[in-house]
Amino acid sequence: MQIAERLLSLTVDKSRYLRVPEYDYPMLKKGIICEKCEQEMMSPVARHLVCPSCGHIESIVNGVMRNVRELKMLFPEMKITSAIVLDWCGLDSVKCIRRILMMNYEKIGRTSGTFYVEK
Ligand SMILES: [Zn+2]
Repeated sequence: MQIAERLLSLTVDKSRYLRVPEYDYPMLKKGIICEKCEQEMMSPVARHLVCPSCGHIESIVNGVMRNVRELKMLFPEMKITSAIVLDWCGLDSVKCIRRILMMNYEKIGRTSGTFYVEK
């Protein structure tokens, strides 16, 4: 009986740690976060992002792709569109986002409903 109780308490504890906090898209902070120190990266300069806190430099392609992977992990059902990625990355050039998405993903559709899937 004691063992059963102990196992039960372990299970309860474990599930408490495994519980994922509830979230939805609007409540999450947008922007590309530095992979070294988790501060927000600054807008691109010559196709690179710079971390104002630790000085880490990353290509904008890498930073955007990192953010897209994050988005897909957080919202597996979400369609990856250039508008969503633009908003999620906190950038201002939709052309740049489209170029990166076209390089790395397959484009589906031709109109405003265009979205991107993995090749
Ligand atoms: Zn940093």
